[in-house]
Amino acid sequence: MPIRQLPRDVAAKIAAGEVVERPASVVKELIENALDANARTIRLEIAGGGLDLIRVSDDGNGIAADDMPLAFARHATSKIDSLSDLEHIATLGFRGEALASIAAVARVTLLSRPRATTAGAQVNVDEGAIGPVTPAGAPAGTTITIRGLFASVPARLKFLKTRATETAHCLRLLEQYALAWPGVRFTAISEGRQVFSTPGDGRLLSAIVAVYGLRVAEQMVALDEDSDAESLQDHTASERPQVSGYVSRPSCYKATRQFISFFVNGRWVQSRTLNYAVEEAYHSLLLTGRHPIAVINIALDPAEMDVNVHPAKTEVRFLRERLVYAAVQRAVRAAVLATAETPQLSGRAFSAPAWPSSDSPFASPDGVLADSPSAASATSAPDSLWRGAGVEVGQSSARGAAGGFAVPGVAADGAVGGRKLPALRVLGQVSQSYIITEGPDGVYMVDQHAAHERILLEKMVAEWRARGVASQGLLEPQTVELAANEREAVEDHLEQLRGIGFEIEPFGGDAMLVRAVPATLSAQAHPQSLRELLLDLVGADSEAASHGETWEEHALANVACKAAIKAGQPLSPEEQREMIRQLEQVDAHQSCCHGRPTMVHLSLAALEREFDRR
Ligand code: ADP
Ligand code: MG
Repeated sequence: MPIRQLPRDVAAKIAAGEVVERPASVVKELIENALDANARTIRLEIAGGGLDLIRVSDDGNGIAADDMPLAFARHATSKIDSLSDLEHIATLGFRGEALASIAAVARVTLLSRPRATTAGAQVNVDEGAIGPVTPAGAPAGTTITIRGLFASVPARLKFLKTRATETAHCLRLLEQYALAWPGVRFTAISEGRQVFSTPGDGRLLSAIVAVYGLRVAEQMVALDEDSDAESLQDHTASERPQVSGYVSRPSCYKATRQFISFFVNGRWVQSRTLNYAVEEAYHSLLLTGRHPIAVINIALDPAEMDVNVHPAKTEVRFLRERLVYAAVQRAVRAAVLATAETPQLSGRAFSAPAWPSSDSPFASPDGVLADSPSAASATSAPDSLWRGAGVEVGQSSARGAAGGFAVPGVAADGAVGGRKLPALRVLGQVSQSYIITEGPDGVYMVDQHAAHERILLEKMVAEWRARGVASQGLLEPQTVELAANEREAVEDHLEQLRGIGFEIEPFGGDAMLVRAVPATLSAQAHPQSLRELLLDLVGADSEAASHGETWEEHALANVACKAAIKAGQPLSPEEQREMIRQLEQVDAHQSCCHGRPTMVHLSLAALEREFDRR
């Protein structure tokens, strides 16, 4: 075939392919345009996986009627003037290609009104053909509607996934931008239903709640923006990356890396190197195959990077990549390690005036003690120490919280972050719930239920990895009465249940006969509690999966909780010592399997402060 210049529309469709790979690419470009136009509210509407409809409305600067045709011309942009501008790009867009590319492969309607003008205007662009600009009523801001995406590019359609998958990609994109721009209110409507929204209150944590849910948000810790100041001393202010954001505690994790996000100056970027920096920071705190959740903002002088690496602008190149890598890694590491410390009582914890004024000792603002039933009947004096006192005890997450069933610190090869407890001397039990001990630096107060649960879990996990959880036959096998669907669920899990120490067989009708249980549980094997536990275990598939856990991990945590000594149980001095001795043997003793703390520490220094000795 002789060489020929391709017809314009063919060339345009080919070029469009670089920018618009799938519906989510369109969503990305439109959201970026809205953000560049200083929008405070952005609304996305999609239907049919984005193929039938994508509409993005914003309340930003708007486009003047006269500029409308130009907005669809290739390499037409209001964001840069010259090549030198490329060296300090502060906007998300700059290539002037997006609207042209989108319009080459879809039918587009642009409706817009700049805030300062009273009349809006509208223009239709059909597969690259720009129609007349006509007056139209419009709110201040811009609405772009895309229909029939790729209808004329069957080659592209072939490569798309199901509509549900494409919808998911579009929504994920919006979520990422919602995380990057917490000051902007995002709303998503899919197939006519609102599926997502952020408050736009400027707080990253609010956006995290909207995107990942409250339970994950509760497990996130903030990065300390100054953690890196010292190591960056040798660099000028403009060279220094500022790293901020949130990362998950090691007890909260996912099965994929998808939940690690980076935003460089508000731009969502993918970077294997930075992923690696984050995962490095969790070194030895997460098992292989587990990945943290992270929302990391990097603010950097635009001159320190090149954003023009990729047509879709999803990658950036850093001038000083090692510096950025190290800054991210250090910030994350510092935050993660801080969560692994034994929680400290804050210095003000024991301030005297709080004592007499307490009327409801267990209304502690952090709720830490509120879930201890026997404690509620205790005398108020010691408990009121905790009241309103800013007791810093880490996470008090309810059972079932994201990652709450994690087995932190238990590595596949049995060797991990092995920070063991110092030897502790038992002083006594308080409120039949807490064991008070003395260590090398002050007082350690241990929650007996949480500690015992941790001990049992570690033991069972170790057994399970070695050869299967120790099982104990019951002297009297127990009959458990079930409903038909419950029996079916139990029967579906018989193999798995056997793996963790249960021996169960059908017993006529819908009843099941339990012949053996995990050894740790043998003392608590009453029909009623067995029934509850079994139903918990067989009903937990999806819950476990959503935390990136195996069924067994989830199940063992459940068994440990059932088997552990409860709050409110008196323990003899020997029993208390035995418990502490076992806890000393356990790695990752700081938190029970639900992410609640097993102990809090009151240091000698804090005591001295309280007594005005220094
Ligand atoms: P780029 O964003 O790279 O400049 P685009 O093709 O995405 O190129 O957009 C072209 C121009 O259209 C932008 O430079 C901007 O001036 C204008 N524009 C696009 N979308 C909006 C919007 N939502 N609000 C205001 N102006 C917009
Ligand atoms: Mg753009």
